Amino acid sequence: MRQDFKLNTKTLNEQLLEMLFPTHCVGCREYGMLLCKNCWDNIDFLDDKYEEIISICSTKQPLIRKMLNALNCDLIKGLNTTAAELIFKFLLERQALPDESFVISYVPIHQRKQSIQGFNQSETIAQELGRLIGMPVLTLLKKTKENPSEYIAWNCKGSKILLIDTCLTKDTQIKDCAHILKQAGATQVSCLTFARDF
Ligand SMILES: [Zn+2]
Repeated sequence: MRQDFKLNTKTLNEQLLEMLFPTHCVGCREYGMLLCKNCWDNIDFLDDKYEEIISICSTKQPLIRKMLNALNCDLIKGLNTTAAELIFKFLLERQALPDESFVISYVPIHQRKQSIQGFNQSETIAQELGRLIGMPVLTLLKKTKENPSEYIAWNCKGSKILLIDTCLTKDTQIKDCAHILKQAGATQVSCLTFARDF
């Protein structure tokens, strides 16, 4: 009963939020959804890799720049789900969905940063992708130091991992993370980012 009450309260909150801050397309501001069909269809997927790292789209496309800025600031609730849906579509179209021998993981941020900003967008995108594919999402890395970055990995011996990050930059750390996972015993690490920033 109490659970029902909570659920109803949440729904009411969501309804109020929708009244106060109606959902608009992040691309063209059309009312009704986070990414309208027209903007969704206009996203150009990338078909080249950078040093074996797959990025599904580029920030050279203004819509992707907008999405990334909003994702990094957690400005729009549910945009992580939209990003995961685009990754899912990208993998599906290329018949590249990981098989059930894989697990999903993500590039972590330092605990201090996480407690200040309250989220790690790579983790939230990975969680949504895991839900869409029906695949477990595991925390296999911890960032132990900033400047220079240091990570530790655990619990990945013999694992095949799809490693997710939000954006690939020139000083990307996803490669370092993949290397550390392999050193810790992972047999395969496939790196995938939502956007590429160069
Ligand atoms: Zn739109």
